[in-house]
Amino acid sequence: MSDKPGPKAPEQDIVLRVNDLHTYFYTDLGISRALNGVSFDIPVGKVMGVVGESGCGKSVTALSIMRLLPKSSKIIKGDITYFRRPQHNGSAGASDQIKQKSENGQQGFWIDENAGKVQEIRLNDLDPMGPEMRHIRGAELAMIFQEPMTSLNPVYTIGDQISETIMLHQRVNKAEGLRRAIDILEKVGMSNPKLIVGNYPHQLSGGMRQRAMIAMGLSCHPAVLFADEPTTALDVTTEAQILDLMRDLQAQFGTTIVFITHNLGVVAQMCDSVSVMYLGRIIEQTSVDEIFYNPKHPYTSALLNSIPHIGSRSKERLQPIRGVVPDPYSKIVGCPFHPRCNAFMPGKCDKAMPAQTVISPGHNVRCFLYSDEVEE
Ligand code: SF4
Repeated sequence: MSDKPGPKAPEQDIVLRVNDLHTYFYTDLGISRALNGVSFDIPVGKVMGVVGESGCGKSVTALSIMRLLPKSSKIIKGDITYFRRPQHNGSAGASDQIKQKSENGQQGFWIDENAGKVQEIRLNDLDPMGPEMRHIRGAELAMIFQEPMTSLNPVYTIGDQISETIMLHQRVNKAEGLRRAIDILEKVGMSNPKLIVGNYPHQLSGGMRQRAMIAMGLSCHPAVLFADEPTTALDVTTEAQILDLMRDLQAQFGTTIVFITHNLGVVAQMCDSVSVMYLGRIIEQTSVDEIFYNPKHPYTSALLNSIPHIGSRSKERLQPIRGVVPDPYSKIVGCPFHPRCNAFMPGKCDKAMPAQTVISPGHNVRCFLYSDEVEE
C-alpha cells in the first residue's frame, strides 16, 4: 500500500511539526541546498533520533528550528510549528516578560487568554533575535552542542553561564540563579557542584564540560532538547555515563529529546523513533525497532551493514557504502542516493525524485522499490 504521509498524530500529542522545510546557504561557491523539504512531527515526551552521514542536514535542521542559522543562510520555504503546552505558557519567565512589557507601555507578545490551551506558534514567522524567539530559545527549546569547549564561554565560570540562562528566563536574582545552577549540576551527576560553579571551562574534563552543557540545556526544563552529537568527543565510558544520565533526566523531567547523531549504537540505546537523512531529505522514518529489524531504504540498510556487530554476525566483513556524499552545490536529478545505490534502476531512479510513501503504519520511505509515486 502506498499513500502520501499526512499528519501522523493528533496535535495534542505533538510538540513540534516541521513541514517541507527548505534551508539554503548562499556562498561564493554558489547555493548549497542544505535542506530540501524536511517534514516530521516530534511527539511529546519521546526521544527522536536523526541519523545520517556528515553533511546530510541533521544539524542544519536543528539550527533552523532554533532559528540559529548563520547570516549566509535562509529558510526559503516550509513551516516550523511549535505547540506550546500550558505549563510552558505559564512559566515564570513568560508571565514576568508579559508583565515587564506592559509596564513599559509596549504591546505584550504573549497571548494571555490562551493560557491553559495548547498554542500554535509558527517559529519561522518570528524574528530570530526578537523577544518571543529569544524567550522560546533557551526556556522552551534548548540545544546541547557537539563540542562543549567551543560552546562554553572560556572567560565566564560554569556557575555564571548556567545561572545567566536561569536569571534571563526565570527572572530570579543572582543568588537564586546560582542556587538553581548548583541544584541542576547535582542532578546531572557532577560531584562537588558548589566547587564546580566557580570553575572555568578549561578547568574541567571533557565529560564534566558535557555535563555542564546538559545542565545548561535542562536548567529551564525546556519542552524540547536538541542534543547534537553530545557524546562524539567523549571516551566510551563517559559516553555511556552521559547517555544513562540523559535517559534518567528525560524520564524525570518528561523532556522531548531530538538526538542528532551518526552513531546507530546511540540510537538503539536512546531513541523511540528514527528519521534517516540523506542530502537534506528524510529518506526513512519509523520506530527504532523497525529501523534495526526491518530497514527498507537501501541507504538505511547500507548504514546498518557498515557498523560492527557482535554475536553470530561478528565475523562478517563490514560493507562500506560505496562512493561519497555528493557535493552539496551539485543538483542531482532523480533519487539523491542513486549514484551510490546497489538497487539503482536505470531510467527510473535517475529521472525523478521518489515521493515519501507510507509502507506500514508509522513507517515512511522515499524509494522506488516500494512505490512508483514521484514527488511533484
Ligand atoms: Fe536506490 Fe532507486 Fe531506491 Fe533511490 S529510488 S534508493 S536509487 S532503489
